[in-house]
Amino acid sequence: MSRYWRAARIMITCAVLFATIGALAQPAPEIPDITKIPAAAQPSDHFDANAATEAYLALIPASAKVRSDAYFEGGYWLILWDFLVGAIISLLLLNLGWSLAMRNFAERITKGKNRQTFLYWVQYLVLTSVLGFPLAMYEGFFREWKYGPATQTFAAWMWDQVKGLGVGLLMGGILTVLLFWVVRRLPRTWWIWGAVMAMVFAIFAIMIGPVFLQPIFNKVTRLDDPRVTQPILKMARANGIPASDVWEIDASRQTTRMSANVSGFGKTLRITMNDNLLRRGSLEEIEAIMGHEMGHYVLNHIPKSLLFFLVVIVSVFAYLKWSLDWSLRRWGAKWGIRDIGDPAVLPLVVLLGSIFFFILTPVLNTEIRSQEAEADSFGINASRQPDGMAQAAIHLGEYRKMRPGPIEEFVLFDHPSGYNRIHKAMQWKAENLQLFTGQQQ
Ligand SMILES: [Zn+2]
Repeated sequence: MSRYWRAARIMITCAVLFATIGALAQPAPEIPDITKIPAAAQPSDHFDANAATEAYLALIPASAKVRSDAYFEGGYWLILWDFLVGAIISLLLLNLGWSLAMRNFAERITKGKNRQTFLYWVQYLVLTSVLGFPLAMYEGFFREWKYGPATQTFAAWMWDQVKGLGVGLLMGGILTVLLFWVVRRLPRTWWIWGAVMAMVFAIFAIMIGPVFLQPIFNKVTRLDDPRVTQPILKMARANGIPASDVWEIDASRQTTRMSANVSGFGKTLRITMNDNLLRRGSLEEIEAIMGHEMGHYVLNHIPKSLLFFLVVIVSVFAYLKWSLDWSLRRWGAKWGIRDIGDPAVLPLVVLLGSIFFFILTPVLNTEIRSQEAEADSFGINASRQPDGMAQAAIHLGEYRKMRPGPIEEFVLFDHPSGYNRIHKAMQWKAENLQLFTGQQQ
């Protein structure tokens, strides 16, 4: 027992330490009133998109820029650390025989193959969550407090983690059982049918997400403020969106970040904005952001992403088929893994999959970023609020780097940079100055 107690004590000490450091975090630098359009961005006959962009960027205090750059660049390293820590955990599970022990335990408890797979999954997820906890705590709690956007106490954050684990046990468990069932049934063609199965599961998860998964963590309510909903619903009707409601989510429980999204599929599709955006954003900013979200809907980004995902998932399964065969021929006996249908192979699957997705990072980011740029264009056209768009980019810049290099943006950004978003908005404004000066052409 004393060993467990020691581990618990270390964890409690870490938590107290992190909470203390969190409490000592520097308060965020106040961003001045960004709803006042800077002089160079005012409509005039010498309006210049570059100068207007610079004028907006100059509204951000230097200390705020240093802080958000450091936060965002730290995120680059976390991509690497997450990958490495995950790889080390997988290798430990394989080489120390823990994966084998979990499989053997599951086989002692129950006879059914599917039940064995599920029982293995439960042990696997709990053990890897515990091993990955220090990094998860740094990433999700301590770092968020240090740089500002966090609003949760450690206990509340921890409770969200427990709920997340519960969702993972159930949803991940269903997927794992289904996939191993396919592998055992179709030993030669499992990689094709496994990909199909994963695809169907992804559609199912996207469908139930906003209605069944989101409410586990946050309260989602119908927004009832005509001052805000009227212009949004007007814009929706003008663009052929059959929405009669706008939804609000209480994201301020976890963070000060502003966001909005279009989620779901078919009947569960909905436009949601978070309460931080409602509280902190001007009406023109809200309209620009909601126009962007409507762009995702009108441009069919969810179905297109699913098609893209289909290509990725078939590739990853083909690669898994090849790389699993190769690895098991070399080390299968040493790790005690019987074949690909043996649940003890899971850490190897996760390791190989994480290598694939780590290498694919720039491709996935570029696919998402391209859609985000399309939604930006749609959003400015629909809302005609280039200054609202610039305000949104500045607000989002509280935790994103505004002006990365071109390669940095290509590889690591899943949205266009703040600079590019403001510049696009100012270019639009330059071409539509008559809307702002009231002159008829
Ligand atoms: Zn978007």
